[in-house]
Amino acid sequence: AKSIGRNGVQFYAPHMNAQAFDRLALESALRHALQDDQFELHFQPQVDLATGCVVGNEALIRWRHPLLGTVRPDRFIALAEETGLIVPIGAWVLRTACRQNRRWQRAGLGPLRIAVNLSARQFAEPDLVDTVAQVLRETGLAPGSLEIELTESMMMADADAAIRTMECLKRMGVKLSIDDFGTGYSSLQYLKRLPVDVLKIDRSFVQDIVGNPDGAALVDAIISLAHGLRMQVIAEGVETIEQLDYLRGCGCDEVQGHVYSRPQTATRVEALLRAGR
Ligand code: C2E
Ligand code: CA
Ligand code: CA
Ligand code: CA
Repeated sequence: AKSIGRNGVQFYAPHMNAQAFDRLALESALRHALQDDQFELHFQPQVDLATGCVVGNEALIRWRHPLLGTVRPDRFIALAEETGLIVPIGAWVLRTACRQNRRWQRAGLGPLRIAVNLSARQFAEPDLVDTVAQVLRETGLAPGSLEIELTESMMMADADAAIRTMECLKRMGVKLSIDDFGTGYSSLQYLKRLPVDVLKIDRSFVQDIVGNPDGAALVDAIISLAHGLRMQVIAEGVETIEQLDYLRGCGCDEVQGHVYSRPQTATRVEALLRAGR
């Protein structure tokens, strides 16, 4: 139970206290993570289903804290959003990912694309477009080699503003994708208006392909829908050969998932890229 002490200090039951402490500890740790160089990017290959070649990689952030250990993004991204720390962290991710991709391109590893996740807060920042332009200039990466991943929910609050931002990015030549497609609440009416190049089918749909005829039909329909809107399709979280075969049969363009590779360090992805050539 919670009560207010004489001097206004709040006392909590031990389990609440532990939770509150966790959050505070995490928040204060997060505040130092950037300057202490505790973030790292891992990369997950995106494979073209027609050729079997790696055509891009998604950058996924990792946080290694000396005491807390490895903290998964699911545990700290939301907190980073609430505290606004996601803005500098997100800028670091963008810069580091673009720089790495440019290095791979310079090393002759192909016309690779890099996909970067953006958070809602970052996407709503007034200087987002400038930040992206600056990072591209700084790293020398061609805009067409950068793909920015957005989620449906990020566009719901103010759809018109979101579409304006997306159009600025598109004019710059940057590619846009909708992440976790199908898990949000956007209507098809709305989807039609979005200037996106790629639709990423969420893992939850991919998991339903095998042994579930309705699930399989749904995936097939999403792929047709996306192609009808002239979007490319990437299936996420592909874990089995059966899922892969089904997706190939439906004309899915690219896949990402454990069946090919888990997210890995830049060094390991580079070895994979060299082996595939
Ligand atoms: P997401 O963007 O949907 O990323 C895909 C997640 O699925 C990643 O988890 C990846 O490791 C995992 N995954 C990939 N293939 C498979 C598979 O075959 N099976 C299964 N079970 N999982 C697979 P991760 O790296 O833990 O990231 C979780 C979420 O955190 C991401 O979901 C994204 O929303 C967020 N996130 C990660 N990095 C960043 C970042 O740099 N910025 C922002 N704003 N969000 C990020
Ligand atoms: Ca993503
Ligand atoms: Ca996703
Ligand atoms: Ca997700």
